[in-house]
Amino acid sequence: MRETFLERWENTRVRYASKAFLTRAMAKLIQDEGMGLDVVSLGELFTALSAGFPSERIEMNGNAKSHEEIELAVNSGVGRIIVDHPDELKTIENYASKKGVVQRILIRVAPGVDAHTHKYIATGQTDSKFGFPVELSEGSMLTNAIKYAMNSKSLDLRGLHFHIGSQLFDPDDYIKGLEKTIELIRDLRDKLNFVTHELNFGGGFGAVINPSIPHVHPEIFTDPMMKLLHENCTKYGLEIPRAIIEPGRWIVSEACVTLYKVENIKELPGVTYIAVNGGMADNPRYALYQAEYEAVAVKDPDAPAYDREGGTHVSIVGKCCESGDILIENAKICKLEAGDIIALYNSGAYTFSMSSTYNKLQRPAVVFVENGEARVVVERQSLEDIIRGDNL
Ligand SMILES: *Cc1c(COP(=O)(O)O)cnc(C)c1O
Repeated sequence: MRETFLERWENTRVRYASKAFLTRAMAKLIQDEGMGLDVVSLGELFTALSAGFPSERIEMNGNAKSHEEIELAVNSGVGRIIVDHPDELKTIENYASKKGVVQRILIRVAPGVDAHTHKYIATGQTDSKFGFPVELSEGSMLTNAIKYAMNSKSLDLRGLHFHIGSQLFDPDDYIKGLEKTIELIRDLRDKLNFVTHELNFGGGFGAVINPSIPHVHPEIFTDPMMKLLHENCTKYGLEIPRAIIEPGRWIVSEACVTLYKVENIKELPGVTYIAVNGGMADNPRYALYQAEYEAVAVKDPDAPAYDREGGTHVSIVGKCCESGDILIENAKICKLEAGDIIALYNSGAYTFSMSSTYNKLQRPAVVFVENGEARVVVERQSLEDIIRGDNL
C-alpha cells in the first residue's frame, strides 16, 4: 500500500478497515506502517484508542451509529466521521459544539453501481442500506445534508466517501463508481458552490485463496482511479481532492492461516467428512456466503490431493451442531488421519472478527509470526472467559 499508492501519488491516505481483523497489536502494526484506521463501532474505536492509536488518524464509519458512538468519536478527536444518515449531522453537531470543536466529516454516497460480487458484500447500489443516493434535486436527502453541513459552525464537511463492495478483482465497477462521483463533485460545485477537498474510495480489493495464485496488485485499481481522478477533475476545472482508500481484506487476509486439528474422518458412500476442532464459530464465512477456501496438511503442504474412487467428494467440516457448518465443501487435500493439523489459507479477514462462541467453543488464539519468531497477540479464551459476566 505504501509503495503502490502512498508513495506513488501525492496527497493520499490509507485507512485500514479494521472490521476485517482488529486486535490491539494489529492497530499498533497499522500505526507503525503509517496508515490510519476505519472503525465502525464503540468496540472497534475503544480497541484502537486503548492501543494508543492516534485519534486524528481514525475515521468512523457505520450506517447506524449510536449517540454513544458519535459522542466517543467526537470527544476522542477522531479525524473524520463518515456521515451515513441525515440524522447524524445534528448529533455530531451537538457533541462538537458541547466540546467546542469543529468536527471534520465526509458524506457517504451510494454511486449507483452494482459491484460484481456476492450480494451480501455489494454496497454501492442505489437501494443500498449504506450512504446517500446520488440525487441533487432541490430538497433531496443529499442536497439537504450538504446545505446543512455547509451552514454549520461545528461541522467541517471535507468531502465524500463511497465504497462499492468487497472481494473485487476487476477495477471496472470501481471506475464507474468514481466517474459518477466526480460528476457529483462537479455538480456540487455548480449547484451548491461546494468544494470537495477529500474523496474516500473505500476498500474492496480482492484476496486470493492460495499462495500459488498471484496477489491482486492494488495498483490495478488505484492507478486507473488516480489517473481518472486527475484527468476528470482537470477537465471540469475542479480542485483534485485528497484520495483515501480503505482496504481491509487485502491487507490481512492472505497474511493468515488458520490451523485446525483433524478430530476424525467419516467415510460414507459418495462423501468423506473430515471433521476438525473448529468451524463456523471461528470462521462463519462459508455458512454466510459460501466463501471459498483451500487447505493443506501441515505435515506435507505439497502433497498431491488424494483421489478417492468413484468421484467421492471430501468435505472439511466443523464441530458445531449444524449441517451448514462447513469450511470447505469440495476439498482437494491429501490423505489425512485423525490428529493431523491442517492449515486453511487466506483466512485473516472476516474470520476472527466474525467469530462467535457458538456451542460455547472457546475463541482460538492469534499468533503473529515474523522471521521465525512467534508471539501470542490474543490469548485463546479460557473456560472462565466463557462464563464471564454470566450470572446465576
Ligand atoms: C468493509 C469496508 C471496507 C473494507 O472492505 P474490504 O473488502 O475488506 O477491503 C472499506 N470501507 C468500508 C466503508 C467498508 O464497509
